Amino acid sequence: MNDVAFKSWVDVPAQSDFSIYNLPYGIFSSPQHSKRIGVAIGNEVLDLAKVQELGFLDEFKLAKGFFEAEFLNDFIALGKSLTSAIRQKLTQLLSKEETELVKHSKKVLLPQSEVKMHLPVKIGDYTDFYSSIEHATNVGTMFRDPENALLPNWRHLPVGYHGRASSIVISGTEIRRPWGQSKADDAEMPTFQPCRLLDFELEMAFVVGKSTQLGERITTSQAEEYIFGMVLFNDWSARDIQKWEYVPLGPFLAKSFASSISPWLVPLEALEPFRVSGPAQEPEVLDYLKSEGLKNYDIQLEVGLKPEGGEEKIISKSNFKYMYWNMCQQLAHHSVNGCNFNVGDMCASGTISGKEPSSYGSMLELTWRGTKPITMPDGTERRFIQDRDTLTLRGFAEKEGIRVGFGEVSGKILPAE
Ligand code: MN
Repeated sequence: MNDVAFKSWVDVPAQSDFSIYNLPYGIFSSPQHSKRIGVAIGNEVLDLAKVQELGFLDEFKLAKGFFEAEFLNDFIALGKSLTSAIRQKLTQLLSKEETELVKHSKKVLLPQSEVKMHLPVKIGDYTDFYSSIEHATNVGTMFRDPENALLPNWRHLPVGYHGRASSIVISGTEIRRPWGQSKADDAEMPTFQPCRLLDFELEMAFVVGKSTQLGERITTSQAEEYIFGMVLFNDWSARDIQKWEYVPLGPFLAKSFASSISPWLVPLEALEPFRVSGPAQEPEVLDYLKSEGLKNYDIQLEVGLKPEGGEEKIISKSNFKYMYWNMCQQLAHHSVNGCNFNVGDMCASGTISGKEPSSYGSMLELTWRGTKPITMPDGTERRFIQDRDTLTLRGFAEKEGIRVGFGEVSGKILPAE
């Protein structure tokens, strides 16, 4: 892994998220072809259906046309021993030393700019956690009590809620400002109106790669077998609706109108070099939540906000490594009651905020509930997201010349209907 000279015959620009060390999977279509599985490399997409057709994947004995799939679920369900072997084969086929696939480069590669990306997985169930201690502390400080910002359960379990899978959309999908019920503090009655406090949440999500039976538990040490890979995740949030509705069962319509994800699913293997330890957990967690080894990942994150026709401003820089609860603990907790999982289920991290105000992962925190507006390059101010603004999340890991990135997830806000 330290051999930085390891290169592909595909031209990969130096700052590309999609080096040969990454090889994320996605679902794409093109004017010539319906949906199929592709792998991102540099600015290209490797068409796995074509690679299979040419006989390069015969050793895996997959059904004919296996990669002409609408979603990655069946591929992921092959299991990690097989998908890891396929990943190794693809690494070999794309390496500079390889001389066979390169002869077919015109047939198997398409520019990413010429394909349309689709949701990578059919998401059965979606859960959103609340696992950044900085975010939970900020929100608790603003909405409850700075002295008791964290509720008593927070350091003992990864708090989460069941989200809505049907409204998870692919990057580039325009998001309509939602209508809903909200109530001003000094008002007697709620009103029904378009959301006034529209926000994003900087998150990452993992995709479940192995199913469980009802009643089965996943331990923290088993959890990585059950995680296929990760994407960037924007949990769009209507703060005024959320504030009025969330008591006592948690967010509902303030979240379910839309969530956006990045198109390329980065396999967990590609993130191996970027493991780091997480924050110390104090007090000690219960036995079933104890985890060993490096379970956090050093993934640099940023958020850009761009008015229509204007210049983008980077409004936050954060890192996935700040998460208090790691993914293995989240999965162990989620399954400890016997709740079953299916391939393609998605679990989002919760807003990823760091200690510094410049690393906060939502407008709510960045502008401190609107009291500290952000000045945009064109001189206008933002307390929350305005109509026709485009919000983009980006993320990548980099170490010793190896870069593994997620590309981006972007969404433009349209006015309420
Ligand atoms: Mn969230």
